[in-house]
Amino acid sequence: MAPDPQAITRALEERRRELQQELASLTEVPRDPMAAVSFGKRIGDGTTEAVERLTKVGAAEQLDAMRADVVRALEKLDDGTYGLCDRCGASIPDERLEARPWSVLCVRCASLR
Ligand SMILES: [Zn+2]
Repeated sequence: MAPDPQAITRALEERRRELQQELASLTEVPRDPMAAVSFGKRIGDGTTEAVERLTKVGAAEQLDAMRADVVRALEKLDDGTYGLCDRCGASIPDERLEARPWSVLCVRCASLR
């Protein structure tokens, strides 16, 4: 069964929009005035803030990495290398592309990353 490049493009572009929205909500400046007031008020608060920020940064980094893959997968669709590993050139199994249409590396290379 040959995958339909247009359907993949649509799915990838939708995924990219979702990721952009998630990233925007993670990186936006909190508008809650209470958050500013309580910052550093008690010893525990600063730590919670810091952990929360780290968690957000980690999540944002993951989302950003995924978005980079989505963008790369769209480029690969354009230049006809979609479904081929960016690192070793092996073909990426259909199951993997179905589960993650933005895969740009084969399983082996992805595990080395
Ligand atoms: Zn590979």
